[in-house]
This record gives sequence, C-alpha cells and structure tokens, in this order.
Amino acid sequence: MGTRILVVDDEDTLRTVISQVLIEDGHDVAAAASAEEALELFRENPFPLVITDIIMGKMSGLELLREVKELESETLVVVMTSHASLETACEALRHGAYDFLVKPFDEIDLVSAVVKRATDRIDLIRANQDLMQRLKSYATDLERLNEQLKSMANRDGLTGLFNRRYLNEALEREFSRSGRHAREFSLVLLDVDHFKHYNDTHGHLAGDEALRTVAEVLQERCRKSTIAARYGGEEFVLLIPETDKEGAEYFAGMIRGIVEEHAFPGEDSQPLGKVTVSMGVATFPEDAADITGLIDCADKALYQAKKAGRNAVITWQAPTPV
Ligand code: GH3
Ligand code: MG
Ligand code: MG
Repeated sequence: MGTRILVVDDEDTLRTVISQVLIEDGHDVAAAASAEEALELFRENPFPLVITDIIMGKMSGLELLREVKELESETLVVVMTSHASLETACEALRHGAYDFLVKPFDEIDLVSAVVKRATDRIDLIRANQDLMQRLKSYATDLERLNEQLKSMANRDGLTGLFNRRYLNEALEREFSRSGRHAREFSLVLLDVDHFKHYNDTHGHLAGDEALRTVAEVLQERCRKSTIAARYGGEEFVLLIPETDKEGAEYFAGMIRGIVEEHAFPGEDSQPLGKVTVSMGVATFPEDAADITGLIDCADKALYQAKKAGRNAVITWQAPTPV
C-alpha cells in the first residue's frame, strides 16, 4: 500500500518530477510550493512522510522540519539540498530529519530508493504500534477475565452470594482481625422454614427462585462490610463485622420481617401460610473463642428458633451453670 507523502519545493519542475515518480511508485502524493503552504496542508491532515527543499522563499525547510516534528513527532522528514549547502543537510539531520537527498539528482531512481527506505520504516513503526495496541487489548481482556474468574470462584452459582469457601476465608480473616483489635463481630445463621414443603408443592425450580429472592433481600439490606453467603441448601450466613449481639439481633429481626412480608408465589400452601426464615445469632468473643465454636452456637440458636415455632430470631445464650 502506498504512503501519503507531502513534496515541498519552490521549483515547479523538480516538484512535479518528484511527485510523478512517487505517484508511479504507488504513493498518495500532495505537493506544496512553499513551506507555508506545506504547513497548512500538514495541519489539516498530517503526513507520515514529508520531502522538503531546504532553501525556499520566506520560511525555510529547516523551519518546516521543526514545525512538523512539533505537530507530529513520528512524521519522517527527508530534506533536499544542493552540493553547495551540505552543512545544512547535516544540521537538518541533527534536528531530526530522517534522511537527505542531494540536488541535482544524478538518477531520479535515487529519490525512489530513499523514499522506499523511509516508507519501510513507517510501515515498521505502524506494525509495531498495531502490535502494541493488540497486546494491550489482550492484556486488558486477560485482566478482566481473571477478575471474572476470581469473582466466580468466590460466588454461589444459584444466588450470586458468596460461597462457603469464601465465607470460610472471610471468617478466618475476621477472626484474626477482631482477635487482634479486641473487637466484636456477629454471625447469623439463616434457614428457610419448611422449604422441603415448598419444593414438594411447587417444584424445584420455584424453590430455586425463592432461594434467589431470599438472597436478594440479604444482598439489598446488608452493608458493604457484611459478608452474605450461601452456606449450603436453603441455609445462609451473615458475617457482620464490628457488631454486638443486640445489633446483630436487630438486623436479623429486620430481615426476618422483610422475608415474612415478601409475597412468594404459592406461599399460602406453606404450613405457616407464608415463606419465612428462622435465624440463630452468635457473637465473638462472648459466645465462643474460635470459628467452629461460634458456628456451633449460631446453629444451636437456630435450632431453638425452629423449635420455638419458626419465623423467629434467637440469639445464643450460654446455659447458666447449675
Ligand atoms: P425446616 O423448617 O426445619 O428448615 O424444614 P425444611 O423443610 O426447610 O428443612 P429440610 O432440611 O427438611 O429441607 C431442606 C430442603 O431444601 C430439602 C432440599 O431439597 C431443599 N434444597 C436444598 N438445596 C436446594 C436448592 O438449591 N434448590 C432447591 N429448590 N431446593 C433445595
Ligand atoms: Mg436446613
Ligand atoms: Mg429449612
């Protein structure tokens, strides 16, 4: 593919001849009779390659070189100069010109050769830029995919809440942090009441939908710092940092009320006439000194809530020694 080239020379004949040679070589050529005219064309739409005479009317090729480089540092500039002023060619090279041609040309093919070298370099730079761009976009895609993977590994497929694996990690973290700073945190174990009945009556798919709805309620109501996880089946866990027993009980009670009020399809046929949840609450460090102990306390409290008739929140109270 040809390159867009700007040919600048105040000598009409030379300008025309060079332009023709380059057009024959397959390039897209524009010509200007002065540096000022060239700059105007360049400003409109920069060229990747400029071939310019050095000595011209008011503005010289050297000044044009400087302006062009300022506008578009990657544009290659080839300067043309006579035998008599070779030092200006050197100066141009020092100021960033890519190459030079000495006038008059012994052979016009020389112009083609110098331009070929320049356009090859332009193609190489472009290919490199494309490659860099592609690499960058691959890297971004990869980063995004990794993020997605990481987040998928932490999430439960049905509800989108955190999964048990992530909850265990979060519990370890919270346990050591709260232990270090002597801070409380609470654990709420939540279980959907008579869920087997709901499944048996309305089918497993309706059951899945109900679990998603309960998860949505948790997701919407929990603060960012609270970890809401699916513990398994129809059981969920809330890990509430920096929250004492009363705070956790209050929050659990609110969730219980919201689920009770929520209209689940076909819930009339449930034993309690509606879909409800029961919860057990335990708090670190007052109820247990380790994670297993704390879960056990919450589980026992949950069992009591079930025994008390369900649709209830019970906070763990250690039995008074006899
Ligand atoms: P309780 O009030 O004592 O908790 O009674 P329950 O019926 O909720 O408890 P049970 O443990 O007898 O039944 C739990 C049911 O939850 C049985 C199981 O099929 C259902 N279940 C567990 N995981 C899923 C799930 O991912 N989707 C659906 N639809 N049902 C599930
Ligand atoms: Mg259960
Ligand atoms: Mg249940």
